[in-house]
Amino acid sequence: MPQKRESMSELRRDITTGEWVIIATERGRRPEGFSKPELRESSPRAGCPFCPGHESQTPGETYAVRSEGDADGPDWLLRVVPNKFAVVSPESPFDQKHVAGPFPWASGFGYHEVVIESPRHDADLTSMDPGEIHRVLEAYLARAGALRRRPHVRFNLIFRNHGEQAGTSLPHPHSQIVALPLVPSGVRDRLESAARYFGATGRSAYADIFKAESNAGERMIVESNHFVAFEPFASRLPFETWIVPTRHRAAFVDIDSDELLDLARVLGQTLRSLRVVLGDFNYNYVIHSVPCGEERRADFCWHIQILPRLTNAAGFELGTGMEINITLPEDAAARLRAAADHLRGGDSRNTANEASQCSPA
Ligand SMILES: [Zn+2]
Repeated sequence: MPQKRESMSELRRDITTGEWVIIATERGRRPEGFSKPELRESSPRAGCPFCPGHESQTPGETYAVRSEGDADGPDWLLRVVPNKFAVVSPESPFDQKHVAGPFPWASGFGYHEVVIESPRHDADLTSMDPGEIHRVLEAYLARAGALRRRPHVRFNLIFRNHGEQAGTSLPHPHSQIVALPLVPSGVRDRLESAARYFGATGRSAYADIFKAESNAGERMIVESNHFVAFEPFASRLPFETWIVPTRHRAAFVDIDSDELLDLARVLGQTLRSLRVVLGDFNYNYVIHSVPCGEERRADFCWHIQILPRLTNAAGFELGTGMEINITLPEDAAARLRAAADHLRGGDSRNTANEASQCSPA
């Protein structure tokens, strides 16, 4: 490791993907220097299809949490519905790949659902209490589990887009689940990197990373009974953050109820820390997990990757697939740790309250 990192750029490799990144901090800006997106007015609006009272504007729900009342009626706390503008659909016939000369193709079979996380139009995971976040995570678990059991589904992705720079135009808080009859190449590459590392060392790359991060501490943000949140060594983007379970599981859907409660707290703390440092930042998060039928893999561990969208990919990134990160992950972690410590001071007054809101349904 070079001694004077702050004065030079550095190439770093992520062993979980095999990707190199350029950490070029002399181009760096303080978090205040990143451009801030215009905040949208976010009170409940007549035009929002996800607001209560507008249930008829979405396809019928596949999952919901409400104390009483009928499906697709009001008074819900969370709804999951098929995406009206789905990228794949179960109405497309499942068929094998066709080959037409150099142009392989298949029909757009799959499932695409939206998790409407709250009836409150202006709610956000950064301001939800652990009980509300737990409800969202339970919905992920229920729907991802159900879709993975459907015929022909090989892989599913759970992800969240927040803000226009993260690719969403609907401000009402929501996540998405896409299930596909194939395993995308980026996912396969990640699995192959994990297999290579395991083959060479006999250990999971993820276990080695969380142990090393936990011991060193310089990129650590939050540690709990079951999770570590940290800035990865080879962060692709400024303030990229991972949440990795300390107990090995290849598939997110195999998480147990204690871990799910803990994850609600850790995800909330991590997002709130990012918000303290970055303001109302645009971000994507992705839950990386194994394809269907590969749940017993010892080499891959499911994890959450939070990707703040503070900078835009330009020619170099598009031409090489190699990111230039202008923020040293160690600097980002120090700021996020300070924010998490500050929030924990405030949280400790609410511990009893949070614990009572967090009991499993
Ligand atoms: Zn709304």
